[in-house]
Amino acid sequence: MVKRRPGAAEKRRLSTAAITATVSSWEDDPGSGVRVTRPVPNLAAKPLAFAFPKPAPPAGMYQPGTPDFRYWTAAEALRRGADFWAKRVPLSRWEVGQVLKVILDEGVDLNAYYDRKALNFFHGPSPSGTVYSGESPDIVCHEMGHAVLDSFKPQLWAAASHEAAAFHESFADMSAILSAVQLPSVRNAILTDTGGHLYRSSRLSRLAEQLGAAIRAQQPDAVDPDCLRNAVNSFTYLNPVNLPQSAPASQLSSEPHSFSRVFTGAFFESLAGMVAATAANENTPTENELASVANDLAGIVVAGIKAAPVVSNWYAEVAAAMVKAAAAVKAAYVPVLKATFVRRSILSMHAASATETLQKSVAAARRTASEPLASVALTASQYGLDKPLLVQTPSQSRAFLATSAAPDASPIEPDSAVTAARAFVDDLFRQGRVDYNQVGRPEARLEQGRRLRTHRLVEESGAIRLERLLFDCGLCRR
Ligand SMILES: [Zn+2]
Repeated sequence: MVKRRPGAAEKRRLSTAAITATVSSWEDDPGSGVRVTRPVPNLAAKPLAFAFPKPAPPAGMYQPGTPDFRYWTAAEALRRGADFWAKRVPLSRWEVGQVLKVILDEGVDLNAYYDRKALNFFHGPSPSGTVYSGESPDIVCHEMGHAVLDSFKPQLWAAASHEAAAFHESFADMSAILSAVQLPSVRNAILTDTGGHLYRSSRLSRLAEQLGAAIRAQQPDAVDPDCLRNAVNSFTYLNPVNLPQSAPASQLSSEPHSFSRVFTGAFFESLAGMVAATAANENTPTENELASVANDLAGIVVAGIKAAPVVSNWYAEVAAAMVKAAAAVKAAYVPVLKATFVRRSILSMHAASATETLQKSVAAARRTASEPLASVALTASQYGLDKPLLVQTPSQSRAFLATSAAPDASPIEPDSAVTAARAFVDDLFRQGRVDYNQVGRPEARLEQGRRLRTHRLVEESGAIRLERLLFDCGLCRR
């Protein structure tokens, strides 16, 4: 029998590790630098399969800093997160089909995005060397979160609404947090690090430490001081229509990543509160208790999203539907969620106290879910366009009026769908996020440098349509 000589790739693997059915990857982010050994993930596993770049390096225990380690870190994190959501939503396919493409390194940029074709990752400079956004489990599970939400609430994709866009970012951050919680080693470490008090800054609350450091080096006020975004924060709801379009990370703006932190903060605070309210010993919750509450909360978030109509005050509608959904899971969760949403002003006290009356038939919920968003023609001369601009507005019908609260605690009357859409579109143009796509006279356009465009214009007979291209997740203003 002739012995086969190992090829180069195989030699590399054999030199770094014995042949195993495991891979080595980061637990949550290269910035926190904690490694974990995991079973080899099956990327083709259904229902939520992935297509990774070919050829795949042989599975093995690679060293950080190598392309093979990055490949398996991304694969392990995405498989873990997708398996969690596939069961929890539940999902039988992606919005894009049976298989979601993953492009691990598309070139130089401190960024990542989901564009209804693939999850896209990049590499870029940082003070500590080159960073790869696809190497961070936090970031890959954030991008996958966009794809998951798009697969069960596709109306949010095109809705011209600050709250819908910001919620997409928030859900993506929740996806990163909940995917990390699936690792027992993370649960144990976080409970130890926080002394059992989960609402404290920790590796779990800090998203994407490494990419955050790289962006901070270029734009010091674009991200939090210790990560990209921290789920432990004290932001409270303000109507995004009245907020500045952009602000330093220490303040709230209507920019989707900035505004997402209001809901993510409420989510993380709820997680901590629900663990404390249900643990056998509230001062020393166990990792099993944390896993079980995180699983319940994920289900409550999903139920809230499914039940809520896509309207201008989407945050309040989701929050009210979550409180309602929690009652069917565990009574002890209800006051925690109500108190958190009220403290964050996402729900007014009036709305929180009225959630018991939120009776909505299954048939009505289904009707809302499939109700298309109304297209409205906005005058667009201020954007340099000589025809009206058609946009999809957050216009589904409400079965229940949930309200957020103003700073003086009074309920905020929701804006009309058209007012919300106009404010959102104004910000897109002011921020240079629209690709004019040859539409309109060049000298009339508002175009800014090479900034990644999230939307584009498409000319139709007698009008111009605004179309979403992607959810952009970096914060660099090139
Ligand atoms: Zn994002």
